[in-house]
Amino acid sequence: MNFALSQEMTMPGSARETAALLRRISRTPLSVMEVCGTHTVSIFRSGIRSLLPQTIRLVSGPGCPVCVTDQGEIDAAISLLEKGAVVVSYGDMFRVPCGRGSLSSKRAEGYDSRIASGAMDALAVALENPEREVVFLGVGFETTAPATAVLVEEAARRNVCNLSVLSFHKMTPPAVRILAQDPALLGLGGFLLPGHVSVILGHEPFAFLPRQFGLPAVIAGFEPDQILLGLAEIVRQHESGIPALSSVYGRAVRPEGNLKAKAALERVFEVRDASWRGIGVIPESGLSLGKKYRAFDAEVKFGITLSPGTPPPGCRCGEILTGRITPPECPLFRTKCTPASPVGPCMVSSEGTCGAYFRFFKGGRS
Ligand code: SF4
Repeated sequence: MNFALSQEMTMPGSARETAALLRRISRTPLSVMEVCGTHTVSIFRSGIRSLLPQTIRLVSGPGCPVCVTDQGEIDAAISLLEKGAVVVSYGDMFRVPCGRGSLSSKRAEGYDSRIASGAMDALAVALENPEREVVFLGVGFETTAPATAVLVEEAARRNVCNLSVLSFHKMTPPAVRILAQDPALLGLGGFLLPGHVSVILGHEPFAFLPRQFGLPAVIAGFEPDQILLGLAEIVRQHESGIPALSSVYGRAVRPEGNLKAKAALERVFEVRDASWRGIGVIPESGLSLGKKYRAFDAEVKFGITLSPGTPPPGCRCGEILTGRITPPECPLFRTKCTPASPVGPCMVSSEGTCGAYFRFFKGGRS
C-alpha cells in the first residue's frame, strides 16, 4: 500500500488547491474509470471535470446498481407480480422498463408493488399480510446485500413463511476485473474505487488491479475534495510508474473491511454467476441465498428460471456501463430518451450515467 501522497494531501486545503496540484503533477495522458455511479453524479454536480487538465479523461463505469440489473431479472420480478405476489423493492427500481412494463406501470395496472426505504420494510409487509406471498427484490452491490442478509435471518428467526427474496445482488470486484482485462478498454490507466463498497470489503478484493494488471487503484469517498484527492493519487502513481492500491477515504475503510457485515454475507449468501446488463454473465459475481435459506429463495419457491432479457431497441446502456461510449453518442439521448420518458435504466436511476449527463452536461469535454 502507498499512502504517502494521501497523508500529505489530507492537510487542510481547498478542492481547487488539490485540483491545482493535480494539474501540476499530471504530465502524460491518463484515462481513469470512476466505477461507482455515486462518484459519477458527484463529479458532474461539483464540476470536477472542468478543473481537470486536458491530460486526464474520466470514464464512467458499471457501478449503478439499478443500471446493471439485467432485463431478465426485472422480468422475473414482474412475473411474480402477475402471479399475485406483493413485490417490494427500492424506489429506483420502479421505473426501470422491461418488455412487460415496469414495477411502476404494473402498479398502475393494479398489481401490488411497493417501494421500500430499506430491506426490513419487506418483513413488515409480510407480517401485515400473512395471507399474501411477499417477495423482496434485492438489488445492489456489497453495500445493500448485508441488509438483505439481515432480512433473511430475521425472517427465518421469526419463521415468516410468506416472505422470500429474489436476490440479484452483485459484487463489484469481478466486474472491475473484467473491465481491467477488456482489450477494448486497454486505454484505461487507473481506477477510482467506491469508498462505501470498500468499507464493507476492505482493501484486498481490489489488490489485483496493481498486482496483476499494473494499474493504479484508489479508494475514495464521494465529496468533491475526496474525489480530487483520489484522482491526484492515481496521477501520482501513474507518473511515478509505481501502481498501488491506496485509500484516501481516511479511517472509514479498514484494510479488513467490516467483519460483521462480511460475516452476515457469508452466513446467508453463496456466490454464483450473474448476468450484468450490457456486460453479460460474469462468473462468480452474484449472490444467491445459500442452502440454509433455500425456503426464502423466491427463485426456488416459485420455480423461476432466469434468462437474459432483450434490451430496449436502440438503447446502448451496455456500452455506457462499460465506458465504450458516452451518453451523447447514443442517438436516443435527449431525443427519445429523457428522465421523464426513459428508454433504458441508465436514464432512470439517480446514479445512472445517462441521467447524470442529461442533468449536468451542457457540452464541452465529456
Ligand atoms: Fe439507453 Fe437512454 Fe442511455 Fe441511450 S440515452 S443508452 S437509450 S438509457
